[in-house]
Amino acid sequence: MAAKPITIVGGGLAGLTLGIGLSRRDVPVTVWEAGHYPRHRVCGEFISGRGQETLARLGLRGLLERAGAVDAGTAAFFSATQFTPPRSLPARAICLSRFTMDHALAVEFRRLGGELLEGQRWRDGDFGEGVVRATGRRAQAKENGSRWFGLKAHAHNVPLTADLEMHVSPQGYVGLCRVDNGAVNVCGLFRRRASADQTPHNWRDWLRGQAGSPLNQRLVAAEFDENSFCAVAGISLRPQRAATRAECCVGDAITMIPPATGNGMSMAFESAEMAVAPLVAWSCGEISWALTRQTLARRCDVMFARRLRWAKWLQRMMLTPSLQNVLVRFVSRSEWFWRTAFERTR
Ligand SMILES: Cc1cc2nc3c(=O)[nH]c(=O)nc-3n(C[C@H](O)[C@H](O)[C@H](O)COP(=O)(O)OP(=O)(O)OC[C@H]3O[C@@H](n4cnc5c(N)ncnc54)[C@H](O)[C@@H]3O)c2cc1C
Repeated sequence: MAAKPITIVGGGLAGLTLGIGLSRRDVPVTVWEAGHYPRHRVCGEFISGRGQETLARLGLRGLLERAGAVDAGTAAFFSATQFTPPRSLPARAICLSRFTMDHALAVEFRRLGGELLEGQRWRDGDFGEGVVRATGRRAQAKENGSRWFGLKAHAHNVPLTADLEMHVSPQGYVGLCRVDNGAVNVCGLFRRRASADQTPHNWRDWLRGQAGSPLNQRLVAAEFDENSFCAVAGISLRPQRAATRAECCVGDAITMIPPATGNGMSMAFESAEMAVAPLVAWSCGEISWALTRQTLARRCDVMFARRLRWAKWLQRMMLTPSLQNVLVRFVSRSEWFWRTAFERTR
């Protein structure tokens, strides 16, 4: 029997990784992508966690290294008044711009024979048999009375004390890391009260932080690349279970992990890898679509439940002004705290 084709809606990291995995198993795949490549995305561009092993198993680690991925081995944390010395990451990470990474994966998918439809938006609600949802985060106007938004831009002339710098403030947090083009990626997650008229009209001010803060000093001479600026709003960080989703989902379409963990891309790669075997079995006519969906959802929930719980707790600590200095002190002084927070969130 000829393999049944699979349609993937969304050509971000999860959709393209899944497309590559299925193409390698000779399943005919079409990916629908509303946008075009290459393009900048709001993302800390810091890949940390088991997804790196997924990339290696799918033969994509070398692809990203050739594309210029930068190795990262240290992190430092800053509040308005305190900071940690650079700490070794318990497991190394890689940093690569989404501009480069999504494009490299798209080229690889096409090279393997996959069909990629750029600039094509799939109709919402049409996620029946054979269609996988990889459409990324689900927009939500507000959560607990706050609106979340993300901003990102590349900048030159930014000195760093560690491969990843994480700066927390009452408005949110900003991560800095060096990426493939020699620039530093400056990416922040911010919140504002739903009632406040505080639109981020000047993105540079949001990314630079309050006057006098370590972040502001770090970015004092920064030269931002205007073309790399992008923004997203309507972010929801409430953890969701895959089993509650009506569609067959991978990546952020299942749930979003707080960006502070640097694990969202890893979850996109991991969920895509977990989807390959059940989708191949469906394509060969061995299992029903309902079983395919349930099998994938169960695997994702087992794999992600613990890290989502810990990430929620970590994010709350990072965003509570009275706890920010406590967090920085703990990371500074306790190897146990640092390792536990790192390992449990990936
Ligand atoms: C502020 C911020 C910082 C972050 N920092 C990090 C970090 O440092 N490290 C990390 O690991 N993760 C980080 N993340 C999370 C990371 O960006 C996501 O987890 C990751 O992009 C998820 O990949 P995805 O493929 O599921 O979704 P996406 O990469 O969002 O891809 C979804 C794709 O689907 C397409 N699409 C949507 N709807 C349709 C449709 N109807 N038809 C066709 N195409 C459609 C979109 O155009 C998009 O290309 C961050 C997120 C934010 C918001």
